[in-house]
Amino acid sequence: KGLRPAAELSAVVKANAYGLGVHRVGPALLEAGCQIFFVAYAFEGTALRQLIGPDAKICIFNGPDADNITDFYANRLTPVLNTAAQIDLWERSGGDTPAMLHVDTGMNRLGLSPDEATQLAAKDTGLTISHILSHFSCSDDPEAAENTTQLARFQEARETLHTVFPEVQHSISASGGLFLPHEIEENLTRPGLALYGICPQVSLESALKTVAQLEAPVLQVRELKPGDPVGYGSTYRANKHMQVATIALGYGDGYSRALSGKGEVMLANTACPILGIVSMDLITVDISNCSEEVKIGDMAECFGHTLNIEKVAANAGTIPYELLVTLGDRVKRVYTD
Ligand SMILES: *Cc1c(COP(=O)(O)O)cnc(C)c1O
Repeated sequence: KGLRPAAELSAVVKANAYGLGVHRVGPALLEAGCQIFFVAYAFEGTALRQLIGPDAKICIFNGPDADNITDFYANRLTPVLNTAAQIDLWERSGGDTPAMLHVDTGMNRLGLSPDEATQLAAKDTGLTISHILSHFSCSDDPEAAENTTQLARFQEARETLHTVFPEVQHSISASGGLFLPHEIEENLTRPGLALYGICPQVSLESALKTVAQLEAPVLQVRELKPGDPVGYGSTYRANKHMQVATIALGYGDGYSRALSGKGEVMLANTACPILGIVSMDLITVDISNCSEEVKIGDMAECFGHTLNIEKVAANAGTIPYELLVTLGDRVKRVYTD
């Protein structure tokens, strides 16, 4: 909010609030004053409507289709219209109910092209459009030329559409956009990741306060002799006397198998490397360097306040977004109010 004080702050809570649990995150954000929410699917919007009551706006990024159009009216969901076909469907379904319009300014993913926006502006449309949206492709990199190009195209599209929708407001920044140094004029921002204390611009990773921590307990502690193997395929072999701990976390919990032999966890304030392959339910880590004794039941921090999620994601060859949304149902979410 402080980064873009003139704009209203909405909350993107798609994919179960980035894996963290929309049943708690949605109501908490509502209580904090959020009045506009975004999810990807109408069914996510329907579930959210039950959680946050009738007043806040719930907007659906992927827009309506013939199968779910009635859900929009039944649950007062606001569609984001992305294509000529969706515009047509919304108009025919009774369409002066407010919608948002997505204009693609260079990502070539979703939204009307600037030409289609011009065509729409030339038509006699019965639509009521509250906001024009667009989305940056490279806002995690402040130096990227795309940021400037997209802002210029967005400005043009707004001017074109302003003639048919004189009251329309506009929104382009997701989390990355909030941290861009560019002069960005908009009425509404749409962060998702940043709400959870993670900054998509790696150079600014400490700009926000971490809110999510993944912990898992030690199930067993053992000694290894030189030559002893660890885990499936014996891909790791001890080259000295070692102490190792087996931890109850694996790819069945969404902890990436790509962390095999690469990742680390924190135990007794010490970074403990993962030895061998990540299994479905377990990992084994090297605790030889821990200054304090590691005991059964101790909790390892797998990302969070000490071991930042950006680093764990980089080790897994992915981004923090994917680590969060792939956390499985077996991972118990504990909320500290
Ligand atoms: C997911 C999404 C957002 C939120 O993105 P973050 O990078 O998590 O802030 C905003 N706008 C659109 C169109 C999205 O798909």
